[in-house]
Amino acid sequence: MPPLSKDFKDELRAKANASLQRHYKSLDDEARSINYDRPSAEMLASFTAHVRSSKRILVLIGAGLSASSGIPTYRSAGGFWRTFSDQQLATKSAFEDDPILVWQFYNYRRQQAKAALPNPAHHALAKLAKKKPGLLSVNQNVDELCQRAGHPVEQIMNIHGSLFRVKCFDDACGFEEDNHDIPIIPQLPVTEPPGVLDSADASSATSGVRVDELPHCPKCRVNLLRPATVWFGEGLPEAKVNHVNRWLCGGNSEASIDANSAVEDNQVDLMLVIGTSAMVWPAAGYIGRARKAGARVAFFNMEARSAGVARPEEGDWMFLGDAAELVPEALKGFLDGQGYID
Ligand SMILES: [Zn+2]
Repeated sequence: MPPLSKDFKDELRAKANASLQRHYKSLDDEARSINYDRPSAEMLASFTAHVRSSKRILVLIGAGLSASSGIPTYRSAGGFWRTFSDQQLATKSAFEDDPILVWQFYNYRRQQAKAALPNPAHHALAKLAKKKPGLLSVNQNVDELCQRAGHPVEQIMNIHGSLFRVKCFDDACGFEEDNHDIPIIPQLPVTEPPGVLDSADASSATSGVRVDELPHCPKCRVNLLRPATVWFGEGLPEAKVNHVNRWLCGGNSEASIDANSAVEDNQVDLMLVIGTSAMVWPAAGYIGRARKAGARVAFFNMEARSAGVARPEEGDWMFLGDAAELVPEALKGFLDGQGYID
């Protein structure tokens, strides 16, 4: 049998993705149609009292936090670009095959993130972090909305990297820096309206651009620069994972890097799990470790279908609905220093 032509494979992929997008859209509509019960005054009072007495708080942040800011999750109808899904372009092999196409995709994602605004939940978390110096946020989002809301940078670990950083394609080179250029090069303009699965021919917008025009690493001068985000199939950055692990062992700062110098007080008082289904590592692992260290857990999640995966236990708080509304509502009692007090 002869190999399938590229055009035919592209057509198959586009059809499959369009069908998947329709499926996600029906799930999105279903989730939106659910009328969640508002949290009861009793639930808010017990949560506020616990936040008030908590010193060490671990916050796990996922895509659901930014969804209300207009950044779609990759498992939603908006998580497609042209005829591609996120998973098909956010990979090392996709970049090796067609770096121009992947940079075009990231032009779009950067534009989308830059146009988005932090929502009330980003702002409430930033305020909480400032009031609780023992808080650490483990952020799976790459949009930098937490930082733009004023979340102290020393209290946040962006474990999936950032859309606004670039690095050398060769990890051994190690070059990495901030980069806010949109488009990444003038020859590759952003042409897509945000949030649309476009049937446009993927090759049309990138024709005329040459790979040698893409930004190259200024250190080794050999390799292309790529987005400094963690792609599908890649491991999480070791330094950041180690930082979170040290924190879970009771350490707070760079001074406690030595893994052997375990700090005695490794109590974690509270864990907030926001906008993530907690299905994938490290999310599920962190919940288990925080519980072992004594934490009570509060979940904020709109996806009722994944709420079961997070396995709430007795003593947890489960806030079901839009994180952008629920996080500020739940933290209001503590942040305002009034209401819902025992
Ligand atoms: Zn390099």
